[in-house]
Amino acid sequence: MSSPSLLVVGGGPSGSAAAYWLARAGHEVTLVEKKEYPRDKTCGDGLTPRAILQLIDMGFDFDVPTFHRVTGLRSYAGDSLMIEMEWPKHSRFPDWGGVIRRRDLDQQVAALAEKQGVQVRQKTEAKPVVANGLLVGVDLVSGGETERVRPEMVVIADGSLDRFGRQLGVTRRKDYPMGLAARGYYRSPRSADPFLESQLDLRDDTGATMPGYGWVFPLGDGTVNVGVGLLSTFKRWKHVNTTRMMNDYVRHGAPEYWDLGEHSQITKPEGGKLTMSFSKGPLIGPNWVVIGDAAGSINPWNGEGISYAYETGRLAARYVSEALAADDPTLLYRYRQHLEDEYGLYHKMARIFVKLIGNPSVMRTLAHVGLRNRPLMEWTLKVMANLLDEDEKGIGEMAYDMLAAMVRPLPVK
Ligand SMILES: Cc1cc2nc3c(=O)[nH]c(=O)nc-3n(C[C@H](O)[C@H](O)[C@H](O)COP(=O)(O)OP(=O)(O)OC[C@H]3O[C@@H](n4cnc5c(N)ncnc54)[C@H](O)[C@@H]3O)c2cc1C
Repeated sequence: MSSPSLLVVGGGPSGSAAAYWLARAGHEVTLVEKKEYPRDKTCGDGLTPRAILQLIDMGFDFDVPTFHRVTGLRSYAGDSLMIEMEWPKHSRFPDWGGVIRRRDLDQQVAALAEKQGVQVRQKTEAKPVVANGLLVGVDLVSGGETERVRPEMVVIADGSLDRFGRQLGVTRRKDYPMGLAARGYYRSPRSADPFLESQLDLRDDTGATMPGYGWVFPLGDGTVNVGVGLLSTFKRWKHVNTTRMMNDYVRHGAPEYWDLGEHSQITKPEGGKLTMSFSKGPLIGPNWVVIGDAAGSINPWNGEGISYAYETGRLAARYVSEALAADDPTLLYRYRQHLEDEYGLYHKMARIFVKLIGNPSVMRTLAHVGLRNRPLMEWTLKVMANLLDEDEKGIGEMAYDMLAAMVRPLPVK
């Protein structure tokens, strides 16, 4: 194969989106994915309206039987407090979400990129060739064969472990939060439920409420995705075993109507890391750019990463295109600047919030007070899912702006 002018490393949401948008802008793009579709990815499989918008823009077919539409979120604290909220009306985003297994979603989005002209090479692992700290080539390893290519630009989309970027000096800020989560699949009589569900009062074995939540996301095919997620702002988080936490949640935390238990378990819990708040950097080099989990783009407010993987992939495609058109790699800095302008303050507020809820009593109080107050909870949903409406400011948006004005001058940490 002759060297592709643009190489995307990793065929998850971020890589496929970047490849799709680059090809749509007229570039010759190769995307390499080390696994073969359909491949599993440990995930809750939940899509918010932000992710749906990106999928609509890429021409995703929502009529496939594997896609289950959801109209909102049901939240619990303990056994008694419960609230059901529809996704808010918004001037940009749709008011619906969905659940779809990642093996199906990622295969279909990669197929959309392929239809756009991207050359998708599966079972191909990319390894950087680095000289004097610079990316001078990429080795593509497939079926025991290694081929060296020298693309003009490389988009790094290899997920939270980011082995590729690490060799170029990309590191994670340890003072920023991180998430740990585990999920498994169960059969359930309530699989057609139109709501995502979250349990906000998760306890560890000492009875302390942890910053995080348990979830049941219905897949509409007789099964549900069940999981738990925890933030590193919890003092004892290094001692928490997420698999045990997940089993406890299945036994005692999730409502009985899901009928979860050993008898309905399809897969054992599998865990993964959530790299958040753009904790990774640098995100650009002279001929490379980092996106998605590899950039730490997950939203700390709610642990959502798929939409931000699509968004950062699309943004990177735009700035890579501009840099190539102007034959000026320094224009890649606009990608970094755009991330800062679009998400910087929101993530700064999130970091303060997740630090606060690292205290068990704050987390418990917020969950129990919030669930008794519908307007407060609906506002919280909008904030956490990043669905406040810039174009049609209501009282919720104004309250958020006031908080943001207070947070803006605070130090970063
Ligand atoms: C337990 C758990 C639950 C979650 N639940 C949700 C949820 O419900 N909703 C949500 O929005 N987010 C959720 N997330 C976050 C979400 O999964 C990620 O944010 C999202 O997958 C990021 O997409 P990505 O494309 O950046 O990375 P990935 O999805 O990790 O894709 C990276 C791809 O790169 C490939 N790859 C890696 N190295 C190489 C290489 N060297 N060469 C070629 N290919 C390579 C991998 O095989 C993989 O296919 C969850 C995460 C976890 C761990």
